[in-house]
Amino acid sequence: MVQFLPAFLRRLITLLLRVYYNMSNCIFCKIVNNEANATIVYRDEQVTAFRDIHPAAPTHILIVPNKHIESVNSLEVEDEALAGHLFSVASQLAAQEEIAEGGYRLIVNTGPNAGQMIFHLHLHLLGGGYMRHPMG
Ligand code: AMP
Ligand code: ZN
Repeated sequence: MVQFLPAFLRRLITLLLRVYYNMSNCIFCKIVNNEANATIVYRDEQVTAFRDIHPAAPTHILIVPNKHIESVNSLEVEDEALAGHLFSVASQLAAQEEIAEGGYRLIVNTGPNAGQMIFHLHLHLLGGGYMRHPMG
């Protein structure tokens, strides 16, 4: 039955299902909405920041937009201020965690080749010790 639908309609239905699935099951949306536990270290109208459950450094915080955005690939022009705000909050948290002077790393994994596991945009803030370089 589905195969008889025009291609654009199939794509639209798939997209709507994906958005519905993500919004109703996304663990980061649940954390943002207080429906799942996390150690929240910062919250405002646009973003929420919480400690990574499997820290890869002494400080490992995830900063996420409060609205569901799958990845950098899904960013729209109107999200530019929000994307910038993620960095402002990262800088603020780095100072709060006392890792600003020593240095830290900000990572945004995007898509399967980068190992993105959670399809809700997030900025990793890692610091508190020396990190190997170069990456990749
Ligand atoms: P990424 O590979 O960039 O998608 O990273 C996802 C990150 O989310 C990983 O570092 C996980 O350890 C972290 N993570 C997954 N579930 C949770 C959770 N419930 N609370 C905090 N961090 C999480
Ligand atoms: Zn989400």
